[in-house]
Amino acid sequence: MIPKKLVALVLDRDRGRCVLNLPRCLGAASVADHRANRGSGGSKVLDDARALIAACGLCNSDKADASGETRAELIRRGVIVEKAATNHQTVVRCAYTPVEYPDGARLYLLSDGRRVPEGEVPF
Ligand SMILES: [Zn+2]
Repeated sequence: MIPKKLVALVLDRDRGRCVLNLPRCLGAASVADHRANRGSGGSKVLDDARALIAACGLCNSDKADASGETRAELIRRGVIVEKAATNHQTVVRCAYTPVEYPDGARLYLLSDGRRVPEGEVPF
């Protein structure tokens, strides 16, 4: 379970809108979706605003089944981030991978809930 405060921060940061925007999207976000799979063990390390995006329930479940071109497009948009060797490295990978929002904005996510446009990189 992602802490409720963190879910609220992510939903607020993304203006309550689903970032995944898959074909069955409901528009309004209700969950915080992990950009990278946690694998087994369910590490809390990935419960970090940099590794989470707002999503609706349908996209959240459809994303898990995405394959081929759909999955490649989600990786290109930074909403799926491939797992690194450790969960800590996966969070770093999320931090360095901007998210392309449905409006086309490409933003880096910070752990405090801020978003920084790609052109104003914080590192
Ligand atoms: Zn959606």
